[in-house]
Amino acid sequence: NAVAASLALVAVGAVAGCGSVGAGSGADERPLVGVAMPTTTSERWIGDGENVQAQLEALGYDVALEYAENDVPTQVEQLETMIADGADALVIGSIDGVALKGVLADAAAADIPVIAYDRLIRESPDVAYYATFDNARVGVQQATQLLQGLGVLDEAGEETGAAGPYNVELFAGSTDDNNATVFYEGAMQVLKPYLDSGVLVVPSGETDFETIAIDAWDPKNATARMETLLPRYADQRLDGVLSPYDGISIAILDAVKGIGYGSDAQPLPVVTGQDAELASAKSIAAGEQYGTVYKDTRQLAEVAVSMVRALLDGAEPETNDNASYDNGVKVVPSYLLAPQVVTGENYRQVLVDGGYYTAEELG
Ligand code: BGC
Repeated sequence: NAVAASLALVAVGAVAGCGSVGAGSGADERPLVGVAMPTTTSERWIGDGENVQAQLEALGYDVALEYAENDVPTQVEQLETMIADGADALVIGSIDGVALKGVLADAAAADIPVIAYDRLIRESPDVAYYATFDNARVGVQQATQLLQGLGVLDEAGEETGAAGPYNVELFAGSTDDNNATVFYEGAMQVLKPYLDSGVLVVPSGETDFETIAIDAWDPKNATARMETLLPRYADQRLDGVLSPYDGISIAILDAVKGIGYGSDAQPLPVVTGQDAELASAKSIAAGEQYGTVYKDTRQLAEVAVSMVRALLDGAEPETNDNASYDNGVKVVPSYLLAPQVVTGENYRQVLVDGGYYTAEELG
């Protein structure tokens, strides 16, 4: 793993004393890195913040870590404070991808490089780099997982010949998060042929991104949408749900259990997810949620931190994709990590053997 290797070198450099690094902010001359994360309402971002902070501190940097609880003005204010405090670099997991143009212009005026973390920051020329996962692939994996859970595709991804029709409903993430569109497009690319041929049917007819998007990725909003969808599944079966994120997946599962799904006579629908959050990992282990897409936030932190390190050293960060992420003003050089499918088949190997959870945590 090239990133891990370069990080190890970086750590050695830091121990040797990072004399060449930037002007520094405080009296101690240690560089200050501002880390702005969107919310603590979802576990993954807590892990992201902790990992980025710990890895930056291991390099001898000071860190200002803030969470904005999904409130855009709060995030803007936090960034303004970081700039005023003399931050040497900013790492930003944005809430609204188009709302940071002004504050990033202030960062640029103060010569502070900005790294977009996980979510692309749009419509601003002042984003230096983007550290993320292959988000289109996440969508492809979610849709493939749905088809595998339904039995339309086998484990190898080959068609089984199952003709359905299977009743499915589709959910997408928050419209202000660029990732949500990318996940949706990746998923629809896989699902469209089956929707066109009638193997998959969406009884609500709701397939447009805007219609199926869940504001702020909030599980409560997913519950509300499920409540409007469920009456039609009292007398016909719901076979599967494309869910973009584990918090939403758990809300969907709770809602269908509430109308009697989850027995031998009426099994739960196949529900996908993302992030391998603890509740979902447990649900997968218990045979309820069909699967999730796991994105190791430790690796993402390594990528972002190695980008910061390079920038503060006047070097060029390593990227592996300089074409996919056009933010409307520029193509942002990116490093994309590989997301990984997790189901009942492999959760032990990936999540437990991989050290993300202990066997005890998963029950
Ligand atoms: C992230 C996902 C996460 C979602 C909701 C997206 O931007 O890429 O991992 O599930 O936000 O927090």
